[in-house]
Amino acid sequence: MTSVQLISPLTAGQLAELRERLDARERSLREQVSLRGASLEQPAAVGQAANDAADLAAARAHDDVQNTLIEQHLLEIAAIGRARERLQAGSYGTCVQCGGSIGRARLQVHLIALRCAECQQAHESALAAAVRGR
Ligand SMILES: [Zn+2]
Repeated sequence: MTSVQLISPLTAGQLAELRERLDARERSLREQVSLRGASLEQPAAVGQAANDAADLAAARAHDDVQNTLIEQHLLEIAAIGRARERLQAGSYGTCVQCGGSIGRARLQVHLIALRCAECQQAHESALAAAVRGR
């Protein structure tokens, strides 16, 4: 038996605190999704002024922005679900790339971080290079 185990570098108390923040974040995201979804069903800017093309365009642009925001919220909710699975599995706080600790400070500003700051930077430069290479 080696001592290599998949144990989160965070203490139980820190994990509990981060789990609570994940829950709170998910609640607020779900609230915003349902609020924005409701505003899409009744576009405020459209109504009597629907004949006015400029108003209609503005209302559509507004809806596009709302849709984009909703999509981003849904993506984040999915990421929170995966973060919770990692909490369960004990791999939360461990970098998926190098296996090192992501660090509590980084997790506190970025609850759903998958990588340590170093690996994230390398990952993003690789992505940017791939985009440039297209
Ligand atoms: Zn790493």
